[in-house]
Amino acid sequence: MATATQTIPIEKNVAAYVAKPRPMLINGKWVQAASGKTFPTYNPSTGEILAHVAEGDKEDIDRAVAAARAAFEKGPWRNITPSERGRMMWRFADLLEKHAEEFAQLESLDNGKPIAMARMVDIPTSVDQLRYYAGWATKIEGNTIPISAYGAKYLAYTLREPIGVVGQIIPWNFPLIMATLKLGPALASGCTVVLKPAEQTPLTALMLGELVQEAGIPDGVINIVTGYGETAGAALAAHPDVNKIAFTGSTEVGKLIVHAAAGNLKKVSLELGGKSPNIVFADAEIEGAIPGATNGIFFNSGQVCCAGSRLFVEDKQFDRVVDGVSQLASKIRLGPGMEPTTQMGPVVSEEQMNRVCSYLESGFSEGAKAVVGGGREGNKGYFVKPTVLVNTNEKMKVVREEIFGPVVTVMPFSDVDDLLAKANGTQFGLAAAVWTRDIKKAHRIASELRAGTVWINCYGVLDSAMPFGGYKQSGWGREMGHEMLNLYTEVKSVCTPIS
Ligand code: NAP
Ligand code: MG
Repeated sequence: MATATQTIPIEKNVAAYVAKPRPMLINGKWVQAASGKTFPTYNPSTGEILAHVAEGDKEDIDRAVAAARAAFEKGPWRNITPSERGRMMWRFADLLEKHAEEFAQLESLDNGKPIAMARMVDIPTSVDQLRYYAGWATKIEGNTIPISAYGAKYLAYTLREPIGVVGQIIPWNFPLIMATLKLGPALASGCTVVLKPAEQTPLTALMLGELVQEAGIPDGVINIVTGYGETAGAALAAHPDVNKIAFTGSTEVGKLIVHAAAGNLKKVSLELGGKSPNIVFADAEIEGAIPGATNGIFFNSGQVCCAGSRLFVEDKQFDRVVDGVSQLASKIRLGPGMEPTTQMGPVVSEEQMNRVCSYLESGFSEGAKAVVGGGREGNKGYFVKPTVLVNTNEKMKVVREEIFGPVVTVMPFSDVDDLLAKANGTQFGLAAAVWTRDIKKAHRIASELRAGTVWINCYGVLDSAMPFGGYKQSGWGREMGHEMLNLYTEVKSVCTPIS
């Protein structure tokens, strides 16, 4: 691997942060796991242990849920005005912004993502999400309803009330963004939270917890329990005193969450996997579509739920697009997250690297061919080469299943109906894109695609204000935008005769 530059020096506060085992935040106190156990988190750029964190399990989840329940029912939180809640959230965002460089470094170290990306995308997006939802705290409204029951006069209106204690289980691909995205609407609507970060990347969520008190958010409103999915996560999903679970991760675990939630019929929202089609028509501005398709798959080492992992190109431009994407892919500077010139970091873990490589092997055994890439890079850290696969078809595992790594399959098409059948021929429905200069065709295709987001002549554009979520097995509900507040509120109808 070409390592032309040096890694940046680690900030003093970050070095001190990872030097000590990190406790969990329960009821405003930093505590060890009841079992006393800890587990390591790794730096994927080196494969070395980065830090140790508390290994919370069922007992700790019980403590955290009890704290969240008490804060919801009895604490000062329920009497704090919406305006003050919004101001607290804004302070929370300001504090995060003030410590942006520390968070960017910690995110890069724990997840492996390029420091440049953490600085440019992860931290500013997290700040923006908190601010966007801070604005909503004062705007969660019900309606007045003109009812006609029994011919009498009634006043009827709806209230939108916080759903209660919320369990939030998040993945490792955008650790801080996932935490702020989930916390934002919960705080804006007056809920209390138990957050469980992914075992691979617990550190930035914990560091965010350090800012909670300084922002003035009362004890017990935000609790953060680190631990494994099968123990801590499962206990949270099954907990009888949790009113709602918000989960982001694999479709497989999403189904386990649904089963676990059945005990008390808690509300569930799910943001799951994808296998998003990215469609390039021959009449597109090909010079824009090529980098668009390249970034659409290789950003964040392909570990993006809405990655454009199935690239469909109209046959007349197939060779040109394959060449263009392959050339750009071969120039991506793969390197350790903490090198400022790195464009693509490692994947998050040894397990994920092996999973991606075994997908590649399966593709090759079924006849796929790598134009560039095709396996691991180097033997230190968890690097996978950006890979462009051709000779693929919809029967292959690499085309059907979410790889969640830097691998794109490129397939030609000529007939639009056949293309749509293939693009929609997946259990997923998270996102899709279409590249064409023909406005009518663009909007027709957008309407035919069974996906929660469709990009036209761009890829991967997300915003705190724009709803995001999946059709089919890509999820339940929509996050971001005002839609997300519906997931955190109950509607109450109030009705009284007035004559
Ligand atoms: P995952 O297992 O779905 O993990 C997501 C979160 O769920 C983590 O916090 C995990 O905890 C927790 N979890 C795991 N098992 C659980 C259970 N039985 N009950 C409650 N919570 C549980 O994802 P992964 O194993 O890290 O990645 C596997 C694949 O999932 C990837 O290759 C990719 O295809 C997909 N994925 C999708 C997204 C997305 O945004 N759509 C994000 C990540 C991964 P621990 O990590 O502590 O075990
Ligand atoms: Mg890590």
